[in-house]
Amino acid sequence: MRTDPAVFLRPATWAEALAAKAEHPAARPIMGGTDVMVELNFDRPRPPALLDLTAIPELAGWERTGGLIRLGAGVPYTRIITELGDALPGLAGAARTVGSPQIRNRGTVGGNLGSASPAGDAHPPLLATGAAVEVASARGTREIPIGDFFTGPKRSALLPDELIRAVRVPAAAGPQQFAKVGTRNAMVIAVCSFALALRPADRAAGTGIGSAGPVPLQAPEAEEFLAGELDWTSPEALDERVARRFGELVAAAARPIDDVRGHAAYRRHALAVLARRTLTWAWDDYRRETAGAGDVDGQR
Ligand SMILES: Cc1cc2nc3c(=O)[nH]c(=O)nc-3n(C[C@H](O)[C@H](O)[C@H](O)COP(=O)(O)OP(=O)(O)OC[C@H]3O[C@@H](n4cnc5c(N)ncnc54)[C@H](O)[C@@H]3O)c2cc1C
Repeated sequence: MRTDPAVFLRPATWAEALAAKAEHPAARPIMGGTDVMVELNFDRPRPPALLDLTAIPELAGWERTGGLIRLGAGVPYTRIITELGDALPGLAGAARTVGSPQIRNRGTVGGNLGSASPAGDAHPPLLATGAAVEVASARGTREIPIGDFFTGPKRSALLPDELIRAVRVPAAAGPQQFAKVGTRNAMVIAVCSFALALRPADRAAGTGIGSAGPVPLQAPEAEEFLAGELDWTSPEALDERVARRFGELVAAAARPIDDVRGHAAYRRHALAVLARRTLTWAWDDYRRETAGAGDVDGQR
């Protein structure tokens, strides 16, 4: 028997939304609906209420303060691609791979975080850039570092009365890349994915691994290795051994399983390839940007 949500809540302000969530903690937030509506259509367990967040203006915009982009939870992928390609190239690159134009017009990073799928495409670039998730309830606001946000498959640190307000992402301070393996080029859940963000001023790199563990992961050993191996001052063409070792360390950080989309062994192999490739692309970009680097010979 179908049990449709008995209550449909449509707050017009953020304060009203927090009050509604406090009063109905079991209410299911809905933003673009590209995950929620799939679940409802499949008649999976039905929430007692839907909390439609699409009328709240604060969620629909982004702002830049110094080196930080505060991205409202309701900004769709299409706008990230068209408006934030320069400031957030890793996230914009991931956004380009999400679903189809229709899904990118509706789907949001807030919804991706809300679903907390290990395969969510926004997660690796958020991990690679050290983003933080701004969440709020009627009790107040807090910021969750992205590395603490995911607590298990499709589980997050979000409490029942909390909503995601925004994600704070450091604007790119160097080249960023995102790459994804799927069974085809579009409309596909990642078999695995990888994001890399270079921060030359800090002599550092950030990583994010998708769809190869119970939660999206980082590869701290690979990051430390890169920081020590790369010559940031006079960047030469990337040493093949450095790229290879980086790939091995990224693959070692993954915790993949066999499932319908791919085997664990394939995922590790593919991640090593993605890590090598993205490092080569990002390093070539860095060499291009560095004065006197001259022509580079890296191939995409
Ligand atoms: C055909 C198709 C293709 C897809 N392809 C991809 C893909 O390539 N890559 C990918 O990563 N995903 C993909 N998805 C999944 C989906 O589009 C994304 O996860 C998207 O980011 C969800 O955003 P949304 O705004 O539509 O979320 P919604 O469906 O509205 O919500 C998703 C979840 O987040 C919660 N939520 C929403 N907003 C908030 C908030 N402000 N605070 C707290 N919780 C909130 C909801 O309650 C729900 O649990 C695809 C889906 C479809 C149907």
